[in-house]
Amino acid sequence: MTKRVTILGSTGSIGESTLDLVRRAEPGDIQVVALTANSNAELLAAQAVEFDAKFVALADEKNAASLKAALSGTNTEIGIGSEALIEAASRQADFCMAAIIGAAGLEPTLAAVDQGIHVGLANKECLVCAGDLFMQRVKEKGATLLPVDSEHNAIFQVLERDKPEGVRRLILTASGGPFRETSLETLRKVTREDALNHPVWSMGAKISIDSATLMNKGLELIEASYLFERPSAEIDIVVHPQSIIHSMVEYIDGSVLAQLGSPDMRTPIAYAMGWPDRMAAPVERLDLTKLSGLTFFEPDTKKFPALRLAREALEAGGKAPCVLNAANEIAVAAFLEGQIKFLDIARVVENALDQHAARSCFGTSPGHVNDIIVTDEDARLTAHEHIVSL
Ligand code: NAD
Ligand code: MG
Repeated sequence: MTKRVTILGSTGSIGESTLDLVRRAEPGDIQVVALTANSNAELLAAQAVEFDAKFVALADEKNAASLKAALSGTNTEIGIGSEALIEAASRQADFCMAAIIGAAGLEPTLAAVDQGIHVGLANKECLVCAGDLFMQRVKEKGATLLPVDSEHNAIFQVLERDKPEGVRRLILTASGGPFRETSLETLRKVTREDALNHPVWSMGAKISIDSATLMNKGLELIEASYLFERPSAEIDIVVHPQSIIHSMVEYIDGSVLAQLGSPDMRTPIAYAMGWPDRMAAPVERLDLTKLSGLTFFEPDTKKFPALRLAREALEAGGKAPCVLNAANEIAVAAFLEGQIKFLDIARVVENALDQHAARSCFGTSPGHVNDIIVTDEDARLTAHEHIVSL
């Protein structure tokens, strides 16, 4: 049977890897329903033509004319603006890959969840900023969430979900990023290019910076807590530079189950898109005899305070993770634009958390998407004001 697939954020790193798997699938196995992008009209149009997409949505209106010109004479329908992203996610499909970056992915991903279909969740930020609400909606609508983030995908594969009482803790692995061995002194001076140069994974710019600050692992800690319904105290993080073990689950009898593989996102993407069946992925096979060793370290939260901040935000609950995420998005964008230094990223986030803790109560979870949007905008403003004052 043909699987109807939609990809939100098809022009990004995860989006392109997903399309690479679609391209290699047997003819007739997968049909592309809808594709979306923020502003890259040229690539979106090329994808629409190659995959004969029924619908494409472009968030940024500035490039609408070039998208329309590139697709004139084709059968692909075009939508422009944020409403069009929701429409793309609402078109009937069997599987939706949620691969927009940042909180911008929340509403389109919720629209996919509302269809009650299989949703491949790459967009960790939407679970960070709206964890309770998001998981509640998944339950209400009977959607199936398939984690794409490699760590969460690993846990999903080895977790006995029907027997939660047997689980002792989740162990998330972290590569440690490009600055694992860099001194705090040198961290003050690292450049955008240094930070974008991840030693193991090839990813989009924002998540690459998050990996360098370890905020990525902090966001993943919060993501894991909501996805697998475990408190902070039951989720450990261990640095594992080779990124061969993608994460683990420890059971009460002492067994530790792990998922291993080459560091290539096409494995978790194939797992999510194929589920409950396995789908072939053209990744480098793991040759255990060629591995030079697997090593593990405690993360250094003095050098990488973002990880501490994320854990604090998770434990504070309510709106704190949303504030953390929004301030981080603004800080990372400012770092990428050369407005702030690397170590300022965590400072901006910490300041936003402090400001919002002083003004509001973190204790209550946002009950409505509008509450999240307001909290998110407020935290962005706080972060922005702080950046300007630096
Ligand atoms: P990316 O920056 O390469 O691509 C992001 C996609 O989202 C693009 O298609 C872009 O056009 C779209 N987009 C960006 N801003 C948008 C906006 N405001 N409105 C609508 N669309 C917008 O990002 P990525 O690396 O592919 O990451 C996507 C998601 O997957 C992120 O949440 C990231 O944390 C998660 N993730 C990525 C990887 C990876 O290896 N790249 C691994 C694990 C998880
Ligand atoms: Mg990850």
